[in-house]
Parts: sequence; structure tokens; C-alpha cells
Amino acid sequence: AAAAAEATRRQLHNQMVELRGNIRVFCRVRPHPASSVRCLAGGTSLALTLDGKEHNFSFDKVFGPGTSQQQVFDSVSELVQSALDGYHVCLFSYGQTGAGKTYTMSGANTPEHQGLMPRAVNQILESVVQLTEQEWQYTLSASCIEVYNNTLRDLLAEGAGSKPEAGRINDANAIKHDAAGGHTVVIGANRLPVSDAASAAALMSRASEARACEATAMNAVSSRSHCVFMLYIAASHAATNTHLTGSLCLVDLAGSERLDRSMVEDMRKREACSINQSLSALGDVFAALSSKTSHVPYRNSKLTYLLQPCLGGHGKTLMFCNINPEPASAQESLCSLKFAAKVNGCETAAKGGAKRNVTQGGAPAALPSTPADAAGSG
Ligand code: ADP
Ligand code: MG
Repeated sequence: AAAAAEATRRQLHNQMVELRGNIRVFCRVRPHPASSVRCLAGGTSLALTLDGKEHNFSFDKVFGPGTSQQQVFDSVSELVQSALDGYHVCLFSYGQTGAGKTYTMSGANTPEHQGLMPRAVNQILESVVQLTEQEWQYTLSASCIEVYNNTLRDLLAEGAGSKPEAGRINDANAIKHDAAGGHTVVIGANRLPVSDAASAAALMSRASEARACEATAMNAVSSRSHCVFMLYIAASHAATNTHLTGSLCLVDLAGSERLDRSMVEDMRKREACSINQSLSALGDVFAALSSKTSHVPYRNSKLTYLLQPCLGGHGKTLMFCNINPEPASAQESLCSLKFAAKVNGCETAAKGGAKRNVTQGGAPAALPSTPADAAGSG
């Protein structure tokens, strides 16, 4: 049985050898009748036309407007699977408002249009059923945190769907990383059990209801906050005395557009600036990682501190650069592509690349508990 379990584990194990460090970039161009972007044959490069000049970019993958949600998911399913195998995995979507970040991450509520988040959770749950037959014991739980104006909000808090002030986390030091540098835990945020597809779906819809949305000049329902969904995975296999922990982080970032472009009103300026601050903090982290400096400024924003285990160390990160190809957005698209090109050149600082969080013998690597856990499902 132990050998079979190990064989299954290996089979499920992400065989995707690191292409280039642990940070990869996929670009996705959404459909639009008039397009300033040409996706080139081969599926790894594109050309953007701005003021008659052509700008060329290459990424690990480029998905054209005809790419389905299933095809996008297929390209990340092995990466998702590796969270189950003891890695810290992070997928996030970057781009201006209206570029397709939320469509990529959450999608719409039909099987065809489902985004990465429900597909990833369902795949993990299906694999857990198989692994349980191989005598693995898996425990899954999830948190969903909004980062808005550099403050945190628990999207799974009671009443967060109707009251914007519900779930606000006031503790400035709420973000903790466990001793092994593994999981991020947000003290005071609910972490709810994910036992089956129904509990997962209920949790995700609760979080999306709670997500702050407000109109800007760019999009009727522009999201000006970052939404971080964290799935915690702990597993044990008694026969081989093996324990592992992994996590899957799915992040729908705030719009990357600059203040002048979104033409927000004065009263909203503070928020718009703050969004740009945390995105530039993310850029600073990537810059530090790629220059291999010893100091990486994770602590400069709540967003980067939350994502630290995935971004540096031994995690695996995949960034989607979402592009709206309408000609009026070409300047903004150029900014997004330049940011993505910088990230694409990054390697994480840790020697040896991504690492499984697995131990043989001893006690299970228990997840740190939070006060919210102790209080019940919340
Ligand atoms: P963002 O979250 O970046 O602001 P959205 O994901 O809300 O952008 O996308 C803006 C609009 O475009 C939505 O109506 C969405 O359904 C649609 N859309 C985005 N990407 C695609 C795509 N690949 N295929 C079809 N529709 C898309
Ligand atoms: Mg959105």
C-alpha cells in the first residue's frame, strides 16, 4: 500500500521542471472587436501596436482571445497539483481594470466560464478522494483576505457581504509566517474547512459577495482591492510516517491603471494611490529577487508580506498578465507588458528552487491555529 501511495504521489507530483526559476508569466489577451495586439504563432509571443510602433514581448505562454477557460486551466493544473504535494503555489492576475483578471481567476458561474479558482479547488478535492484511498489523510481549509488601502479585511467574516466594515482586521501585525517559513496565517481571519465541492463553492461565493467593488470611470464595477484566496493543505500518510504541508494562493489583483487614466474623483484619490503603492511594492520585490540582493522588501506592503512564502524562498509563482487589446488601452497595455516582462526575468533567491514541505517521521506538520479557528467556523 505504501509503495502504491508513493507511486500515486509521484504520478501526481508536478513533473514540470522549472523552466526558468520559480516565477513564470503567462499573458492572456481578452477578446475585443478592435485589437492593438497580435498574438504570434507558437503561443509564446505577441506584438502590441501603439502610435504606429510595434512592441514585441515573449512569455512562457501567450493565450489569444480564443482561449477557453478550460485551456487556461489545463496550462496550470500541474502547478495546482503540486500544492497537494507539499509546495507553496501562488497564481495571480495582473492588469488594468477590464483586462480580464477576475474572469481568469473567478470567471462566471457556468461550467464553461468557471475560472481558475473553482477549477483548482475541484481538482484538488478530486485528487484528495483518490489519495484517501491510498491511505493519505488530507485536511483542507481556506481563508479569503481583501487588501484595500493596505488594510486587511476577512472576506469570510460574518456580515462581510452586506457591511463593508465587517471583517476589518485592525491588528497591524496580523500577518504571521509559521516557523518553517511556510504558511502565511492571518490572525483573526476565519479559516474554514473545505471538505467537499459544496463547502468550497459556498465559501467562494461568500467571499465574492464580500468583495468591495465600486465604479470608476474605467469600468462600472472596478475592483480597487486585491483579493487573496488561500487554500491550506496538510497531509499525513501513517504507513510511511510521512507528513506534508502545502498551500495554494490565488490572487485577483487590483487594477494596475494609473490615477490619471482612471480619472477617479478627488475623494477617491487616496485609494487609487494606495493600489499603485502595493503593486509597485510587488514590482520592487520582483526586482530584488531578480537582482539577487540579500534584502527583499516583502514587508513594504501587506500584499507582498502575505505572499512572501510563495514569492521567494521555495515557492512557485505564476503571474497572468491580462491584456485588454482595445486600441484606447494600448498605452496601459504597454505598461502592463513591461511590468510582466520584468517579472518574467526573475528567479527566486533560494538555492535549489522550489522545495516540498515534507517530513518523514516525527509529528505531523500541523498548521498553526488562529483565534478564529478556535472560535468555530465563523
Ligand atoms: P478585470 O477583473 O481585470 O477588471 P474582468 O475580468 O471583470 O476584468 O473583465 C471585464 C469584462 O470582460 C467582463 O465582462 C468579462 O466577463 C469580460 N472578459 C474578460 N476576459 C474575457 C475572456 N477571456 N473571454 C470572454 N470575456 C472576457
Ligand atoms: Mg476584477
